[in-house]
Amino acid sequence: MPKPTANPSSHSSQGKPDTPAAGRASANSSTGRLGTVGIVGAGLMGRLLALRLSEQGWRVTLFDRDHADGHQSCGHTGAGMLSPVAELESSEPMIGQLGFESLNLWESLLGRLSQPVFFQREGTLAVAHHLDAPELSHFARMLQGKLADPTLQPWVKPMQTGDAIRWRLAPEELSALEPQLGERFRTGIFLPEEGQIDNRQLMPALAQALKEQGIPWHSNTPVLSIAPHEIEDAQQSHHFDWVLDCRGLGANSDWTQVRGVRGEIIRVHAPEVQLNRPIRLMHPRHPLYVVPRENQHYLIGATSLESEDFRPMTVQSAMELLSAAFTVHPGFAESTLQEMAVNCRPALPDNLPRIEINSGLIRVNGLYRHGFLISPKLAELVCGLIATGSLNETDAAYESLITQTETDKTEEPTYAVAH
Ligand SMILES: Cc1cc2nc3c(=O)[nH]c(=O)nc-3n(C[C@H](O)[C@H](O)[C@H](O)COP(=O)(O)OP(=O)(O)OC[C@H]3O[C@@H](n4cnc5c(N)ncnc54)[C@H](O)[C@@H]3O)c2cc1C
Repeated sequence: MPKPTANPSSHSSQGKPDTPAAGRASANSSTGRLGTVGIVGAGLMGRLLALRLSEQGWRVTLFDRDHADGHQSCGHTGAGMLSPVAELESSEPMIGQLGFESLNLWESLLGRLSQPVFFQREGTLAVAHHLDAPELSHFARMLQGKLADPTLQPWVKPMQTGDAIRWRLAPEELSALEPQLGERFRTGIFLPEEGQIDNRQLMPALAQALKEQGIPWHSNTPVLSIAPHEIEDAQQSHHFDWVLDCRGLGANSDWTQVRGVRGEIIRVHAPEVQLNRPIRLMHPRHPLYVVPRENQHYLIGATSLESEDFRPMTVQSAMELLSAAFTVHPGFAESTLQEMAVNCRPALPDNLPRIEINSGLIRVNGLYRHGFLISPKLAELVCGLIATGSLNETDAAYESLITQTETDKTEEPTYAVAH
């Protein structure tokens, strides 16, 4: 027996839109609002998109199998580093480009939230113990090579003056940045443009903003299937002008290329440790980062394992992370364990994000280890595609991240770069 259909849009539930672009923005003359959008997945990407689209006048509905606290999402587990330069060590220049653009977008977005979210741009410090100095040199060479990419020059040029990257800090410079590390490390690399955000404050703050926007949120609602214009849960089918699939790893039943990359991370309270910014320890076998939060709380992370294993943290990972943290600062010996968290980052084969567009359905996935770094810009790209069916000329560099699905290839393209 067919399930009942909830239909908040003007299309019939069976009816196809007239053209591939029929889901695009069309003002509803009676409400002055744009059309309807159903978003599946209220993790990081889903919350950001819900907020941006609602701010622009779309009538948004959210679905998630989790409670609204979002504790199952990768967004709840992540470290919230915003590292467009340091992440270039193992990623494409495109990640840096998305990251630099997103840093500015975060500042304006957070300013619109009613709940405060810890966010700072005090840079990142990379260090290595004396015997591991070659690791630090290797890191510098990798970054310098990637920063030479022409696409990054709009951000790299200003960094050559003013707050320039310091590839080899003098001991007194390192001590000035991090007084408690001055005796343990003789040099380091300082990346002044980088930032961090407290995801444990961000996720509830976004939830509050969505509540203030009056967005219906179907929590504890596993979605069974997604199709253009249609979302089906155990009770009924819901019809929308656009459906957005933001399920992260949960999307791999439909998008089989999406894989999970297990990450384990430890939260401690360390009253004896005073670090001002994320510290990356370069090490041949156990690289790690230590990310300060407010009130002497720290994140120590993270493992990166090609596995979709959600079981609790292994003793080996805990020992490796904690011992490496102890070599960064002996004050971690007296810290108290607050949490050992595990989640799997949603990744695509090339570890780049993708926006897959069909008429009435957009899938956003592959945020991998860069969700916080890149999601504000990805949200802008998706909003633009929905509103106008095209990428702004200034966003043409991101065209390779957008794919059109098989079913649409016979039809007129649903998007183009505006020239
Ligand atoms: C240990 C660790 C450290 C990290 N550190 C950083 C960092 O420092 N900086 C950075 O930028 N990124 C970091 N990340 C990566 C970042 O957390 C992810 O890229 C990001 O959270 C992915 O966002 P998403 O919205 O795609 O997925 P998620 O945040 O996982 O959200 C997906 C949502 O979809 C829901 N869902 C799934 N299936 C269904 C279904 N069938 N029905 C209904 N709902 C469904 C889930 O419940 C979930 O709420 C880290 C990740 C980990 C694990």
